[in-house]
Amino acid sequence: MLSVRQVSVRYGRSVQALSEVSLDVSDGSVVAVLGGNGAGKTTLLRAISGTLPLHNGAISHGQVLHNGVRIDRMDPAQIVRRRVLQVPEGRQIFTGMTVEDNLRAGGLASPARTRTAARDRVYELFPVLAERARQVGGLLSGGEQQQLAIGRALMASPDTLLLDEPSLGLAPQLVSRLGSIVQQINAAGTSVVLVEQNATMALGVAHWAVVLEVGHLTLEGSAEELVESDDIQQLYLGGH
Ligand code: ATP
Repeated sequence: MLSVRQVSVRYGRSVQALSEVSLDVSDGSVVAVLGGNGAGKTTLLRAISGTLPLHNGAISHGQVLHNGVRIDRMDPAQIVRRRVLQVPEGRQIFTGMTVEDNLRAGGLASPARTRTAARDRVYELFPVLAERARQVGGLLSGGEQQQLAIGRALMASPDTLLLDEPSLGLAPQLVSRLGSIVQQINAAGTSVVLVEQNATMALGVAHWAVVLEVGHLTLEGSAEELVESDDIQQLYLGGH
């Protein structure tokens, strides 16, 4: 169980990126975080993974608990060891390393046996990565790099996966495949926080969803409820 409790983040003097945001991610669930550009979605993931750029003058308050333990004062490596893993927007794979070595890097903290099983599972979910195992990451297409970034995080057998706009830049048929991959990852026992601008995909996969608007959590409910909501229809699903 992951609990975000009244988290506020301010960058410098003027940008209040998050204001008193609270959110629970119960074990085995998928929670979608919707919202427009600059709403604070990435900041929320960074507050959870401990990668907030504090050196840039970010000031944060509030608590983040993982299985009842406060992780908001931990450094990112400690949070990774708790198997809470963020896949950042923009992929950020090691472009000069092979696909296989990228995956190996993701599994460094795991015992060898777990690592082999995790790699087999990644290749099962993303067959294209098995085909390209010996190729350097930089030669993969955008969509393949996205798969590699997720695969690398899966190598750590995550308890909770924080996905930042995984559908960004993917062709429509890949977006729906991505939705089903998120479901498969979740079905294997990993909780997922899914930050998305693609509300259709996110609500199709999520159990619970929240909407962030300029740092405020303005709406939350089950994915079924939110799909029916007029605001969501108008703002995010193109309905009337
Ligand atoms: P997008 O969908 O565009 O990625 P987002 O919802 O993920 O947006 P954030 O990236 O969390 O939003 O940004 C929230 C606000 O904080 C924005 O106004 C952004 O400009 C600002 N911000 C983010 N990172 C920093 C930083 N390091 N220093 C200063 N301001 C920042």
